[in-house]
Amino acid sequence: MRKVLLAALVIALMPLSAFSAAEKKRVWIAYKEGGRSVAEAALKNSAAEIHYDMRQRNAVVATLPSKAIENLSRKSKIEFIEDDVKRYPMAEVSPYGIAMVQANLVDDNLAGNRTVCIIDSGYDLNHEDLPTTTVSGTDDPGTGSWATDESGHGTHVAGTIAAVANNNKGVVGVMPNGTVGLHIIKVFGASGWAYSSSLVAALDACEASGANVVSMSLGGSFKSRSEDRAFAAADGRGVLSIAAAGNDGNTRKSYPASYSSVVSVAAIDSNKALADFSQRNDQVELSGPGVAVKSTVPMGTGSDVQTSVAGASYEALAMDGSAQGSASGALVDCGTAEGVCAASQSVCLIERGVISFADKVLNCQAGGGVAAIIYNNEAGALSGTLGGVATTIPSVGVTDTDGAAMLSALGAASSVVVQTGNYSIYDGTSMATPHVSAVAALVWSHHENCDNQAIRNALIATAEDLGDAGRDTSYGYGLVQASDAVNYLSTNGCDGGGGGGGGGGGGPQQCELLPKGASCTSDADCCSNSCKGKRDAKTCK
Ligand code: CA
Repeated sequence: MRKVLLAALVIALMPLSAFSAAEKKRVWIAYKEGGRSVAEAALKNSAAEIHYDMRQRNAVVATLPSKAIENLSRKSKIEFIEDDVKRYPMAEVSPYGIAMVQANLVDDNLAGNRTVCIIDSGYDLNHEDLPTTTVSGTDDPGTGSWATDESGHGTHVAGTIAAVANNNKGVVGVMPNGTVGLHIIKVFGASGWAYSSSLVAALDACEASGANVVSMSLGGSFKSRSEDRAFAAADGRGVLSIAAAGNDGNTRKSYPASYSSVVSVAAIDSNKALADFSQRNDQVELSGPGVAVKSTVPMGTGSDVQTSVAGASYEALAMDGSAQGSASGALVDCGTAEGVCAASQSVCLIERGVISFADKVLNCQAGGGVAAIIYNNEAGALSGTLGGVATTIPSVGVTDTDGAAMLSALGAASSVVVQTGNYSIYDGTSMATPHVSAVAALVWSHHENCDNQAIRNALIATAEDLGDAGRDTSYGYGLVQASDAVNYLSTNGCDGGGGGGGGGGGGPQQCELLPKGASCTSDADCCSNSCKGKRDAKTCK
């Protein structure tokens, strides 16, 4: 405060010329051929501090009095002098999944020729990091405006597809330059579920909007013949539908993901290991990043989390339901915090296990602790919930290895910040799905002449095989790869390098449905999506 006042006084009282003579500036001095000695002499005479001597560029970067700069700039051998302006680290991060699906290797400059329809909980049209001009939507009277999102789920999905790059904010999506068309259908309102009929109506609205790809981070375990038919028919008309395999960690099938006309997407983590919640079955077709995915959530509903111990920053996840706040103190080891931890004015370091996260935080709080850091007792990040229990101190989860590092710094100054933000980290096949949907649209944008089956086949053919060799029930064909799929279509053409037609004409037969001539009961049974004939003698065409 004092310093600022003094500076203001100095400016007010001193004549301008005297002021600028006293001031020093850091500048680039660019000299002409033969001008180096002129610059050197001036720098020496003014006792300049030289930062870089860039002979090959005929330039010197130095800090010197403004008066000396003024004099030097008049010399004929000096080309120009300019401020050495500041550059800052960009606040924007590229979530790990973007490079993992090769989205960073494929330009989205053509993506304006594609539209992705997102059937979800809406879209925060006021979000600072989401496109606004390339987005349209369909309002549903039961759920309200598509341009708001009461749950955050749909906005998170949208960010993975299209969060804006190079705006110094938040994150980037698979197609981050505001090119791809988005159409938003809001089927989830406050209730958090929808009927299969609403989903079919949404699919129709997607098609009416001109959507090429339909992204559905949703599902349920009961199938519906009406739904099955609707997706098969849309598939036949050229729409590529993509849905989440489900988060129950078992081998049940989810729908719409498990209809043959829909691509079922499994979730993997940043180490390409299957998420324990990802459902495994013979309909799983592709995998995408779906663990600890950072993306956009409605403005002010996300969290900004910072954790530091002994001057080192650690990546932490806020406990779901954590109190907001910023606190600091010495780090105290509370073990598993099964009883009140003596942690007056301190930050509690707590191991996961035995009792609930909420009870651990309450035991820290009861002992006077100002914040709680809970570390995992198994490999990986710790994303926990307080289960609705009210606590008053900020609480976060960290990995087991970070916990071990912190245990060796007990007593050190530590701080925990949990405050509102515009981004959140979610887990789910719901997060894996938009990675695949967006890659499908991105690849398709470079091969506009190919049909939906050709794009689907290319994604399958180029997926990075994970788990057991070849297709398996955990990962399907593997991790979707944008650049490889674009190159595959460039090399092999839409039909995979053989006969005519959009799908499965040449190369390995990718369709697992019934071939031409086989008896069938509905269009959805056939690779061709066409089951025709007399009542009891229908065959695939
Ligand atoms: Ca951004």
